[in-house]
Amino acid sequence: MRLRNRRLSRRSTVVAATLAATLVGGGVAYAATAQPAIKTFTPRSADQITNIDVLRQQIRNYYGDELGTGTFDPKSSYAREASKVARSGETYLARAAHKHASKHAHGNKNATKAIVLDVDDTTLTTWNYEVASNWAYNPTTNAQFVTDQKFPATPGMVALVTKAKKLGYAVFFLTGRPAAQEAATLGNLTKDGVGVDAGYPVPTTLKNGEDGLFTKPAVADYPAYLKTACASDPNGSCTTIHYKSATRAHIESLGYDIVANFGDQYSDLKGGYADRGFKLPNPNYYLP
Ligand SMILES: [Mg+2]
Repeated sequence: MRLRNRRLSRRSTVVAATLAATLVGGGVAYAATAQPAIKTFTPRSADQITNIDVLRQQIRNYYGDELGTGTFDPKSSYAREASKVARSGETYLARAAHKHASKHAHGNKNATKAIVLDVDDTTLTTWNYEVASNWAYNPTTNAQFVTDQKFPATPGMVALVTKAKKLGYAVFFLTGRPAAQEAATLGNLTKDGVGVDAGYPVPTTLKNGEDGLFTKPAVADYPAYLKTACASDPNGSCTTIHYKSATRAHIESLGYDIVANFGDQYSDLKGGYADRGFKLPNPNYYLP
């Protein structure tokens, strides 16, 4: 489950400005659902590792928040880099809007073109929580930020999604946040007058009537497509890759062609069922 993934991954890794600087810790086991260690090299010398306090400062600088107030600067390297990904997505979607649906869409040339977007650090930026938690993820304090709807839009992404919708793409959000957080997530993304209203278009309702914001159900509530895809995962609980790719497969099975998939984690993008993936920058945590 996403929450445990996040907690474990943050426990067993250190924040990293680059993958090369990622340091694996002692494989601390929290529960039976321990995730495998992140694959990275083993430093032979401390000189190969960025000092974690220095690294935290580099990340603050990257977000244009040198003093760690929790507000990122719209002119920061982070904002510039995220906006660049959003713009390249826009260019790609404008071109792809007029092409036939891809072979991924079960050979259905009449499939409706769609985009899929992750939430945390893809469409909503959680920098304020990273600072507040000092990069130590805690499900309780994080849930407070979620229910208070405290996250601003990721730079460039509202313009991208608005443009995609205008071009006729169905818009789906796919997050590892638990189902209990669905209403708050929708409110933060769109407009409900509570906390931050990021200004995204409302997600598209699917052809079978499902709403277009996919949150992660409890294992007992899994739909058939998740039960099947995750049967051999620990305790039958989907890994991020299985949860997300099986959900994309489900969406495509309903007559959609996912033309682009946007995520800040590689696990958002692996597993197929999208013509192209776009990776948003996130040096704060790693979800295997
Ligand atoms: Mg994310």
